Amino acid sequence: MAVESQELNLLANDNRGKSQLEGGFDLLGWDEVTQGSVLPSFDGDATGIAGMKAEERTYSGFNSYTATVASWRVQKPVFNRDICIDCQNCWVWCPDSSILSRDKQMLGIDYDHCKGCEVCVEVCPTNPKSLLMFSEYADLEESLASWPEKKKKEKKSKEA
Ligand code: SF4
Ligand code: SF4
Repeated sequence: MAVESQELNLLANDNRGKSQLEGGFDLLGWDEVTQGSVLPSFDGDATGIAGMKAEERTYSGFNSYTATVASWRVQKPVFNRDICIDCQNCWVWCPDSSILSRDKQMLGIDYDHCKGCEVCVEVCPTNPKSLLMFSEYADLEESLASWPEKKKKEKKSKEA
């Protein structure tokens, strides 16, 4: 069954940022970890973890997946499903693995880990782009409503 982007976002909100939100983990600072320490990335038995989707894994509090860095961002990419051609360029180029894609279908942005670098917007080939940067506080519906029209190709001059 295909996972809808909305569901995926809800799962992400449930699973991530727990250490900050609940204060349940008493994590060491990077300079407090002694040589030889082992920081498990997953809770419990990790057998078969490589074959599981990210939102199905039981990440430990030490894994960066459980920490949200959304507050680092001042602008966010907004995704317009109506224009996207699922080329996966954004997924390939995103330096933070923050493009949510399943079965070669672009689903949206992982806003818990996106840093707002704009690389995904740069590499999106559609006209207009299917990803555009908006203020971090911009409303999704308003952002989509303000999407630019398709740019027309400039006609070549016959005299040139
Ligand atoms: S803005 Fe940067 S970090 Fe965020 S999804 Fe796009 S490429 Fe990834
Ligand atoms: S680069 Fe643009 S068109 Fe390609 S999958 Fe990403 S959003 Fe869709």
